[in-house]
Amino acid sequence: MDGMNALNDAVVRPRSPSNTTPEAFGLSYDDGVAARTRAAYERVKSVIPAEEWPRHAPFIDAINRLKAEKNAVILAHNYMTPEIFHCIGDFMGDSLALAREAARTDADLIVQAGVHFMAETAKILSPEKTVLIPDLEAGCSLAASITAADIRLIKERYPGAPVVTYVNTSAEVKAESDVTCTSSNARQVVEWAAQEWGSDTVILLPDEFLARNVASQTPIRIITWHGRCEVHERFSAEDIRELRDANPGVSVLAHPECPPDVLAEADFAGSTSAMANYAKESGAKKVVLITECSMSDNVAVENPGVDFIRPCNLCPHMKRITLAGVYEALLHNRHEVEVDPGIAERARAAMQRMLDLPPAAAPAQFDVKAPQRDVVVL
Ligand code: SF4
Repeated sequence: MDGMNALNDAVVRPRSPSNTTPEAFGLSYDDGVAARTRAAYERVKSVIPAEEWPRHAPFIDAINRLKAEKNAVILAHNYMTPEIFHCIGDFMGDSLALAREAARTDADLIVQAGVHFMAETAKILSPEKTVLIPDLEAGCSLAASITAADIRLIKERYPGAPVVTYVNTSAEVKAESDVTCTSSNARQVVEWAAQEWGSDTVILLPDEFLARNVASQTPIRIITWHGRCEVHERFSAEDIRELRDANPGVSVLAHPECPPDVLAEADFAGSTSAMANYAKESGAKKVVLITECSMSDNVAVENPGVDFIRPCNLCPHMKRITLAGVYEALLHNRHEVEVDPGIAERARAAMQRMLDLPPAAAPAQFDVKAPQRDVVVL
């Protein structure tokens, strides 16, 4: 997709993808709901128009009551819309942060406001808890790009090289892996695995662009897979140049699932948490986040003094999660995510190796000026 198409997406994107009304669920907006949700609205009023609030507030009110009744928590990924992220999320963040919270929580019920591999991750780390996902079709192009059988073939081809798998994968794929990683810690995990396995080569799967971007930050030889995030692969270096021309002085922050030439045009690159920290702490007055649409809305809520330019791409999988869907999930305890115990045990071992690594003082950032290096793409 060329630059203008990416920019046009920002213009036509819906603020809320759900057309489902509270009334369809027997909920309504009244003075009591308005009073109980006032603090939530104060948090998001910079990104949600007042006339939209009566459509969200009855769901938010009902969800918050159901959570208390059922000892439930909601894990909300950064790519959720602000009325989910800021108004019903108990733990918010990127995949790594949510994985850590899933392992720690003493709630009986976890609702994953995110995509299916994240719900599986929560179940793997908390097998005794009930994990729900509001929409079973909330998938991921990266997770769909590779199977456990693919990993077994790759391991036969490169014996002795550790397999580092991005958390954006199925439980079966994690179970075939030596250790998992996220975009926050990919380089750290790759270098740790190389040392532990005594190998100068690491298999880093399945995101080709993340692997290429990590390869430019480390001397380790990287073998990867041709998986792509359908959201981040659509950004181009030309998009960034057009943005700079249209917005002089803007700071460009890119996610490492973007192509390497996009990172080379950026001022900063890092995981969603690293981008959020940069927006908060760098002192930049005008910022563009080269990532999924809702991320900008959610970071903007916390940084009222920063002007966010918002060209972005929607993740159609993330946008399957709506307030109405979360409400129904909690009300009816659906859809429960199960992982075969044998697979879960092996996947947990791979995840635990990652979680046992010392947490970095701050999410890793990528040196956008580092020269690109060759990787093997399978
Ligand atoms: S944004 Fe990309 S990596 Fe994340 S769920 Fe969507 S397709 Fe998958």
